[in-house]
Amino acid sequence: MITNDNISEIRLAFPALNQQVNNRQLVYFDNAATTLKPKVVSEAIAGYYNTINSNVHRGVHHLSQQATYAFENARKSVQQFINAGNSNEIIFTKGTTDAINLVAHSFGKKFINEGDEIIISQMEHHANIVPWQTVCEEKGAKLKVIPVTEKGELILDEYENLFTGKTKIVSVTHISNVLGTINPIKKIIETAHKYNVPVMIDGAQGIVHEKIDVQDLDCDFYCFSGHKIYGPMGTGVLYGKEDWLEKLPPYQTGGEMIKNVTFEKTTFNELPFKFEAGTPNVGGAVGLEAALAFVSHTGLDEIFNHEKELLEYGTEKLSEIEGLKIYGTAANKSGVISFLLDGIHQYDAGTILDQLGIAVRTGNHCAQPLIKSLGIQGTVRASFALYNTSEEIDIFAKAILKVKEMLG
Ligand code: PMP
Repeated sequence: MITNDNISEIRLAFPALNQQVNNRQLVYFDNAATTLKPKVVSEAIAGYYNTINSNVHRGVHHLSQQATYAFENARKSVQQFINAGNSNEIIFTKGTTDAINLVAHSFGKKFINEGDEIIISQMEHHANIVPWQTVCEEKGAKLKVIPVTEKGELILDEYENLFTGKTKIVSVTHISNVLGTINPIKKIIETAHKYNVPVMIDGAQGIVHEKIDVQDLDCDFYCFSGHKIYGPMGTGVLYGKEDWLEKLPPYQTGGEMIKNVTFEKTTFNELPFKFEAGTPNVGGAVGLEAALAFVSHTGLDEIFNHEKELLEYGTEKLSEIEGLKIYGTAANKSGVISFLLDGIHQYDAGTILDQLGIAVRTGNHCAQPLIKSLGIQGTVRASFALYNTSEEIDIFAKAILKVKEMLG
């Protein structure tokens, strides 16, 4: 269990926690934007650059072989982490945005035609809206949107009503980065499969708050960013079922992804390399592997339980504050609390909190359609990670009172 006794040991693994911001001990509550990194991650990256630092799949020399070994081992670690059936179903990307663009453009190119329909939801991050919208514009297809209740839950009956013979793909977020809602993705996938429609899951938030088993979920595509699960920025993963990945055309072309090139014709490499054009971020993959090992070693259930406790405690503390409204009250929620204070602009609140050493996110959280549907312009968002404590929530609650005192 993560307890008051061992949390200080866990916190020691994260050097960035040990600093003052505006002369106060930092309270880092912007974990949904990016998590801090344990030392083992930067050590793994440095280890790669200080010793191996070679390109993969190319050289016969010792270091190049070591690089290939390290990169492919990282791929296997990701495979195990999300229980994919085969390591060739794991494509390394720059992150979630990159992975969604890959599927949207590649799937769109081959399978979307004029009049076709793509289903997303009202609570999507721009990364899971704009790529699909672009495909729709290019192909003359239509975006259909699953509505959300006032509590921030998807309306599943309406979701099922959106299917027609023209529906080609569903792409929804596992967990809302604004509301914290954990969507019932297994059910969403089951429903789509009834209509023979594949499903892509944006797991940017999901990967760090739930145990992911892509075979059990039976999702066709699942993607996430390394930096949200204590790994390096610029890394990410697209999982795709082998059948689908075989059928999709390459997204980017160039070195690494080819089998044979002549000026007349090029044949493409096998999976997963078909989707990994150019020199990959080997150091990043090694760093991501270290992050996943750290998370597994700490214990996924431990982490989820700890975050749940923080969410419950934080919700209780913040609910006691008069004039504070929480957005996102779904029954199944991750460690995210979005809120507004009566009569106080979110940016002003965020600025005062920063002066008090507390890092939170303010604004529309790259989800303008959702924010608009809530009838607001943005929120203040606090999001918790494995190293946060209930004492930090106490400091936060006191700081919010201070914000009210200064601006209310
Ligand atoms: N989807 C969701 C739900 C997110 O929270 C984020 C990051 N805020 C993204 C997609 C995009 O992730 P990235 O910027 O790492 O590509």
